[in-house]
Amino acid sequence: MTAPLALLLDFDGTLVPTARTPDGVAVDEELRALIAAACERLEGRLAIISGRSLEQLDGLWGRALWSVTVAASHGLELRHDAHRRVPPPAEIFARLARTTEARFGAAQGVVVELKSYGLGLHYRLAPRLREPVKAWAEECAAAHDLVIQEGDMVYELRLPGADKGDAVHTIMALAPFQGSTPLYIGDDFTDIPAIAAARALGGRGLAVGARIAAHADGVLTSPAAVLEGIRALAAGGRDAFFT
Ligand SMILES: [Mg+2]
Repeated sequence: MTAPLALLLDFDGTLVPTARTPDGVAVDEELRALIAAACERLEGRLAIISGRSLEQLDGLWGRALWSVTVAASHGLELRHDAHRRVPPPAEIFARLARTTEARFGAAQGVVVELKSYGLGLHYRLAPRLREPVKAWAEECAAAHDLVIQEGDMVYELRLPGADKGDAVHTIMALAPFQGSTPLYIGDDFTDIPAIAAARALGGRGLAVGARIAAHADGVLTSPAAVLEGIRALAAGGRDAFFT
């Protein structure tokens, strides 16, 4: 018996045409309904894997993704079963920002830059603190499994290399995805590791447009063609994307 299908989808450039600005993308009711129908047809084995943050995606989709597994920020954020399985990374960095402020204090010239998924420790105003700042960054990195990226008078703490390939492996280990065959669809360079992961798990990857066609098992010409395939799948055709 053939393993059931899991559908793993990039968002920008795959389900919607890429816009001139990130804010220029819109999700209409038809797309919301289509994803809901396909997700139901696949008994929950549908996931969106995007470089956008969960907050951005929810802003575009409304509540439509609440019942869909979502890996956002290239896999740094995961929501499954309506629960965030990974604590928002920002919480880690916000906490480290506070402890760093307490340790060095603005008066000493270390500027702490809190980012969504990172923390910059700038010592430009106090170059003599380079070594203590470095030691502190190493202590934080070791305690929280972070990596250090050195920049121009800054040590930045970041999460270790999550990519869409990691997201595919993480999602495929979850119920109800476990044991199914993944089909990944994406259009950009960041989708290449996801296609490789889908293949490693016995599945396939399709490219939307020409950009990463050489890395995929097949090509869909446009987001409209992707939606057509999903529509056929939702209507009952398992082979929608394979013919
Ligand atoms: Mg894309």
